[in-house]
Amino acid sequence: MTYVIFDLCIRDGACVDVCPVDCIVPGIPEAEWPWYYIDPDTCIDCGACVPECPVDAILPEEDLPAAQVYTTELNARYFSAGPGYAALASK
Ligand code: SF4
Repeated sequence: MTYVIFDLCIRDGACVDVCPVDCIVPGIPEAEWPWYYIDPDTCIDCGACVPECPVDAILPEEDLPAAQVYTTELNARYFSAGPGYAALASK
């Protein structure tokens, strides 16, 4: 299981500060990766990020509405095919 950020994300970033394993990173470049993303291999499913999001854009993957299921793969792809943690260095 993992938590997933989906398309309501407004790049507020408050979720980053509370994550105990630092697995939430901003999408860079923003035009290509417009949200923040959660690394599913590092997320420990603590749920701390959920109440921090001002627009409720984070859910456990099993609670995603059908229309948002695709975002699970998208979050994972940011770390496998996108810049992943390297984005933090250029933040
Ligand atoms: Fe980080 Fe916990 Fe949110 Fe996973 S559920 S992204 S570990 S704050």
